Amino acid sequence: MTKYIGAHVSASGGVDRAPLNAQAIGATAFALFTKNQRQWQAKPLTDEQIEAFQNNCESAGYGAAQILPHDSYLINLGHPEADSLAKSQAAFIDEMERCQQLGLRLLNFHPGSHLRQISEADCLSRIAHSINLALERTESVTAVIENTAGQGSNLGFRFEQIASIIDQVDDTSRVGVCLDTCHTHSAGYDLSTEASATAVFAEFEQVVGFQYLSAMHLNDSKTPLDSHVDRHASLGAGSLGWPVFRYIMQDARFDGIPLVLETPNSDNWPVEIARLKEMAAHGS
Ligand SMILES: [Zn+2]
Ligand SMILES: [Zn+2]
Repeated sequence: MTKYIGAHVSASGGVDRAPLNAQAIGATAFALFTKNQRQWQAKPLTDEQIEAFQNNCESAGYGAAQILPHDSYLINLGHPEADSLAKSQAAFIDEMERCQQLGLRLLNFHPGSHLRQISEADCLSRIAHSINLALERTESVTAVIENTAGQGSNLGFRFEQIASIIDQVDDTSRVGVCLDTCHTHSAGYDLSTEASATAVFAEFEQVVGFQYLSAMHLNDSKTPLDSHVDRHASLGAGSLGWPVFRYIMQDARFDGIPLVLETPNSDNWPVEIARLKEMAAHGS
């Protein structure tokens, strides 16, 4: 197995641009939005768009295991109000279907927010129910829960909350987790040293389990440990520093899944990717 390393690249001009943009920065993985992430509606994908995407992925050497689509920021699968919840569930199912049409296997999403109107437990149950609805209506796509920084009323910042959602999912073969290093640290799990990172990932193994780890977002953080603020920094330029990224590159538990940069300066992505690849290859 190997490390798949890339970034969340632009799909403006069409989803088929994303694999080309990824190839141009030396990536062996990439993330993308399959529709405008700030709008509810999107035109269905055409057969031509799907074929162009698949052709470009094939020519650039990207298989489904290297690609991590991300859903719209508008979706809240734990919404306290029935109408808004239904709207989010419908939009999420549409996103899952788009991934399925593209031949993709993963869909990364932020779990949801209680908006201070319902309890944490109620919100987690709603999220699990929403996942169940989406899994019933689709076939081959895994719903990948991203851990959050716990900003505002966003849930999924404690490993226990993610475990609670998974516990309530009917088909656990199609639910996964994406750990974002910035969010993890901001949520209070110290990733700033090799020793502290070792302890955090041991806790993840105990509470959730590495069998669910489907992807990682590799971001440094502009804010300190336990800040509950979601502000990404370039690798090595924030409160995490390089040790955790070296740790991930040298640990086989992170093999074979998309490892995706969402760092602020996209001009720096080729350098960050090259440095990560070097750490993976040389063990230094
Ligand atoms: Zn992320
Ligand atoms: Zn973030």
